[in-house]
Amino acid sequence: MTDPSELPPLRETIKKHGLTASKVLGQNFLLDRQLLNRIAEVPGDLKGENVFEVGPGPGGLTQALLLAGAQVTAVEKDERCLPALAELDQHFPNQLSVISEDALKIDLDKLFNSPFHIVSNLPYNVGSALLIKWLSSDTWKPNWKSLTLMFQREVAERIAADAGSNAYGRLSILSQWRCETKLAMTVHRSAFTPPPKVMSAIVHLVPKEQPDGVNPAVLEKLTQHAFSQRRKMLRQSLKNLKGAVEALDAVGIKETQRPETVSVAQFVELARMLS
Ligand code: SAM
Repeated sequence: MTDPSELPPLRETIKKHGLTASKVLGQNFLLDRQLLNRIAEVPGDLKGENVFEVGPGPGGLTQALLLAGAQVTAVEKDERCLPALAELDQHFPNQLSVISEDALKIDLDKLFNSPFHIVSNLPYNVGSALLIKWLSSDTWKPNWKSLTLMFQREVAERIAADAGSNAYGRLSILSQWRCETKLAMTVHRSAFTPPPKVMSAIVHLVPKEQPDGVNPAVLEKLTQHAFSQRRKMLRQSLKNLKGAVEALDAVGIKETQRPETVSVAQFVELARMLS
């Protein structure tokens, strides 16, 4: 492991390699080492742990993960970042491997043969797609031990929202039926270079046992119907889903309830009955 004081300032790295931020690639870089170290602490002690990072960019978060003692595999779509990451590799011999690829094309089961954490300041344009992909795997529990992910604050709030709140919806249920979720920290827009228009937040998800007897596709369909008309009562929004309205009473849900008042456990129970 290297002495942090030997690492060049991130601003210098960006300038040296001409890494002007690309909007299309969702590039908003974090340069504050203290903040990056705090993010790297969210998953817990990473010494000797495998970490998958999406979008290392100039390598700010990557450095923090390497300093925490992690073995990092990073996938970056922007080839301009590769020389900066190669320099980082020299500071942390045998700790970093970089894949030049689109993260959406990566098959994590092929990449890792032992458990790993996923940590990323996600590019906003592909963040939700990646989260949904990681949460929707056929087999559960997955190979990953935790997700520590930066999202727009509004999306982060939806992931961790409790029933009854405005943010509660399909993304909350998709995340919470298979994971413990929490909003770990909010990050002010001014912390990024360049600053995005909106505030950001880090969510932390840890997989839990999946409830028995629930077909994920049925749960998905159920929440799709229920939240398609958020302001409507369930007897209206579920009327085209065979057997759903009739099953409500058995799981303690009233036909007159609106979807945001139904807990994750109740949706899961309903999906089990319909599975
Ligand atoms: N980790 C750096 C940081 O915290 O400063 C950069 C974060 S920036 C928000 C997102 C990064 O993801 C950029 O480096 C961008 O090039 C990369 N990226 C965008 N789309 C990607 C994709 N589909 N696959 C892999 N990397 C991608």
